Amino acid sequence: MLKFDIREMATPGTVLEIDRQKFFLTALEPYTRKDGSASYIVHWEAECARCGEAFEDLTGLTGRFPRRRCETCRKVARGRITKRGKRVQIRVIPA
Ligand SMILES: [Zn+2]
Repeated sequence: MLKFDIREMATPGTVLEIDRQKFFLTALEPYTRKDGSASYIVHWEAECARCGEAFEDLTGLTGRFPRRRCETCRKVARGRITKRGKRVQIRVIPA
């Protein structure tokens, strides 16, 4: 299982590539965790893997990867984009 961790590279302008789908880091929004420690909400901009429409998704610095489909497509098409057993290619292009 791939782990998402952008802590080292979290700068606006960083590009995350998942199977040739590009996610552009547009902004880091400071926020305070429940335990009081400081962290960031990461804003990503990408083109939907299904319809090509530009959409925004938010993630933490670690945890889950950004979503690959816009909100509309997420509602109509459930299921995984990546085929079972296929290895997902992840690449981070620093700003
Ligand atoms: Zn879409």
